[in-house]
Amino acid sequence: MPRIFELDPHVADLIAAGEVVERPASVVKELMENSIDAGAGIITVEINAGGMTFIRVTDNGCGIAPEDAKTAFLRHATSKLRGPEGLEAIGTLGFRGEALAAIAAVSRIELLTRECGPAEGVSLTLDSGTVTDMSPTGCPEGTTIIVRDLFFNTPARLKFMKTDRAEASAISAVVVRCALSRPDVSIRFIRDGKTEYHTPGDSRIDSCIYSLFGREFFAGLLHVMAEDEGVSAEGYVCLPAAARGNRSYQFFFINGRPVRSRTLQAALEQAYVNNLPSGRYPSCALYITTGLSNVDVNVHPTKAEVKFVSDKQIFDCVYYAALSAKSNAECGMRNAELSSVTEREKSNAECRMQNAELSSAMKREGHSEFRIPNSEFEKPHNSQFAIHNSQLGDVTVRETSNAECRMLNAELSSATKREGHSEFQIPNSEFASFRIPNSEFASDTDIRVIGEALKVYIIVEYRGGVWFIDKHAAHERIHFDALRADGYEPMSQSVITPVVCRFGFEDAALLLDNADMLDKLGFSIESFGDDSIAVRRIPAEIDISDTEQVLSEICDELKLGGAAGPARRDNIFRMIACKSAIKAGKSSAAHELEVLASRVMSGEVSQCPHGRPVAFELTKATLDRGFKRI
Ligand code: ADP
Ligand code: MG
Repeated sequence: MPRIFELDPHVADLIAAGEVVERPASVVKELMENSIDAGAGIITVEINAGGMTFIRVTDNGCGIAPEDAKTAFLRHATSKLRGPEGLEAIGTLGFRGEALAAIAAVSRIELLTRECGPAEGVSLTLDSGTVTDMSPTGCPEGTTIIVRDLFFNTPARLKFMKTDRAEASAISAVVVRCALSRPDVSIRFIRDGKTEYHTPGDSRIDSCIYSLFGREFFAGLLHVMAEDEGVSAEGYVCLPAAARGNRSYQFFFINGRPVRSRTLQAALEQAYVNNLPSGRYPSCALYITTGLSNVDVNVHPTKAEVKFVSDKQIFDCVYYAALSAKSNAECGMRNAELSSVTEREKSNAECRMQNAELSSAMKREGHSEFRIPNSEFEKPHNSQFAIHNSQLGDVTVRETSNAECRMLNAELSSATKREGHSEFQIPNSEFASFRIPNSEFASDTDIRVIGEALKVYIIVEYRGGVWFIDKHAAHERIHFDALRADGYEPMSQSVITPVVCRFGFEDAALLLDNADMLDKLGFSIESFGDDSIAVRRIPAEIDISDTEQVLSEICDELKLGGAAGPARRDNIFRMIACKSAIKAGKSSAAHELEVLASRVMSGEVSQCPHGRPVAFELTKATLDRGFKRI
C-alpha cells in the first residue's frame, strides 16, 4: 500500500504561506511592495489590533484588470516575470507571484481595484484562498486590499504571535523601511485610527527622514554622496555623538530595495571604528545604486538579504562615503572652534588636503590597508593581535603588523631585562596558593585599608599579609548577589525630566512588553511615541547617562528569545551589576574603599559575576622572599 501521497493543494498552500507570511508585518510588507510595483505615488496603510484583525493597504497604482483579479491570487501567478532570462535583472520588488496566494490562504480578503481608464472596477472576496464573491463595482483608480482575521485557520501559527503592540511595532518598522526606500512615494500609516506618520512623497530624502523620525534625529545626521566605478551611495550617516546603543536605525537600500547586508553594515561601522566605543552603533539611511545585474536578490524568500557580485566595490563605496562625510564634519566643527580667520583658513586647507588624500587613496589600487574583507568578520578571534590582524586586509599589511607585534614584544622583554624586572617576578605558584577571604576572617578591626592603587585596586593590610582587592569586581559581585536575593527591593531614583530613549519600533515594543520585569529591576518606563520610551525611574546605582545603554543591552538579551529562564535573568543582573558598580579608573572616596574592603574580607564575595577573583593576598613570606630577607 503506497504511503507517499501528493498533498492536497489547500494544505500545500498553507505550508507555502508559512514561508512568506510569518506575521502581520510580512503581510504589510508584501502588500506595500505590490503597491510600489504598481507605480503608486500614494499608499495608505491602516491596521487595527497589531494587524491581527484588520490590515488595509490602499494605493493609486495601475490597478488590476477584472479578468486578472482571480489569477492574481493563484500561486506562482505574476505579471512581473515571463521567462528565466528575466531573473538575471530584477527591477520590481516582487517577482515570485506567491504573496497574494499565501496571504489569501491564511485570512479573509477583500480586493477592490480599478484600472486607469475603465469606468468600473471589480470587487473580489476570498475566504482561506477560495473566491466567495466577485462583482463589478465603482471604486477609485488603484487597488485596496483588506486582510481580516489573519491566521484564523492556522491556530498553530496564531500561538506564535506576540502582543498586539509588538506586532504593530513590527508593522511600523516595515512601513518606515518602505517609506524610507521610496521618498518619491507619499506614505501614511494609520494605527488604531490614529495617523502615526505621513511622508510627503516629494522625492527628498531629507523631508522623508524628517517626517518619520523628527527634528532631533535629523539634526544628528550628515549628508553623504559618493560615486565610484558604477556604484553610487547617497543619503545620511550620523555624527559620532549621535550614535545609538543598537543598530535599529541603520537603513540600507540597494536600487530602491530595503536590504540587510553584513558587507554594508561592516563598511559603515568600520568608518566609525576610531570614534565609537564598543556597544555604540552609527545610524544611517544610505541609498546605493548599482547595475541590476551586480546584485542577486533571489537568495532569500522574503528578499530581505542580497548578494553582491563584488563585495569589495560596494564596501569601499559606503566606507569612503561615510568616512569623508565624517571628516568634513570634523573640519567644520574644528573651524567653529577656531576664532581667527587665519586659523580657520589654515584648517580648511588641511581638511582639503586630507580629503584629497582620502579620495586619491580611494582610487589607488593599493588602498587595501583600509579594507576589511567580509569573511574575516565571521571568524572568532582569541587574541588581541588576531583581532588587530583581522582588520587588516592583505597579507603585506598583516605581515607588517605581525612584525610590529614581534618588535613590540622584543622591546618589552629587553626592557624588562634591562630594568631587571624578572628578578622581582613572583613565581606563579605563589598566586596559586592564595587564600580566599572567608567568614572566619575576623572583624573590621583587623583590616587596615592602606589606600587605592592605579584607581583599580584597594590595598589592605590584614593579619600579616597584604591584600589586593579589585574594587569594581567586588562591588559588581555585591550588587549581583543583592539583585538575585529573594525579596530584593530595588532602590530607584526618580528622574525629574524623564529620559527619552529612541530605540526603534521593535525594541521599544519589546521593552514595553517587559515593563513588569523592568519594574522589578527599578526601571519605570512608558511608551513615548511609537519608537521611543520615556524612563521615569532608574535603579539608584545606575548613572542617568547610562540609561539608554543599559536598557539597550537588556533589550539585546531579551531578543535572544526563548523562555525567561534563570540564565537570561542572571545575564541581565550581571549587566546591571556591572553598570552600577563603581568604575575602575575612577578614584573612590576613602569610606567607599573601607566599606568594600570590609565586605570582601568578611568573606561575603570571592569572585566577580564573570568568575574572576575579587581579591588575592601577597603573604609576608612572598614579600620577604622578593626582598631576599629569607
Ligand atoms: P508578485 O508581486 O511576486 O508578482 P503577488 O502575489 O504579490 O506576486 O501579486 C500577484 C500579481 O498581482 C502581481 O504580479 C500584480 O500583477 C498583481 N498585483 C498585486 N497587487 C497589486 C496592486 N496593488 N496593484 C496592481 N497590481 C497588483
Ligand atoms: Mg508581490
